[in-house]
Amino acid sequence: MSAQTGTSAEFDYAVQMAIADVQRNPDEAVRFAMAFVPVFVMKRPTPEMAQAGGCATCTYLGLWAQHWPGYGPSELGIKPENWHGVIFMFEDGIRSMTNNVNLQARQTLLHEIDHALERDHVLQHLQAAKAQLAAQIRGGCGYCGR
Ligand SMILES: [Zn+2]
Repeated sequence: MSAQTGTSAEFDYAVQMAIADVQRNPDEAVRFAMAFVPVFVMKRPTPEMAQAGGCATCTYLGLWAQHWPGYGPSELGIKPENWHGVIFMFEDGIRSMTNNVNLQARQTLLHEIDHALERDHVLQHLQAAKAQLAAQIRGGCGYCGR
């Protein structure tokens, strides 16, 4: 992980811990991607990054970018040949979701790793399906989990 200006030490630490957690993920593909995709922290995306991400006015928690240039500030030194892409983690967006910065950083990083593997939102659907199955096994409601 490379530190960018403006993020808090607490956020940088949360992202470091998220990386360490993802490096221990049981999914080998997730561990593989984590080994090759650099992670950058920023307060928020630049307007160009938000536009390239598909929504200029959205709040971004994270962003995975495969192609470079065209994404973000050039002072990050990302090379065009980095074909595994890069992940950005945004402090403002993550803090806007929750007070649990550590948990949200981990979930966001996993989400972006899923994009890096180009199996968009598969992990998200698997987690939802797992929660639904667990609720059904308990005899509860598969929708709200109670
Ligand atoms: Zn996504």
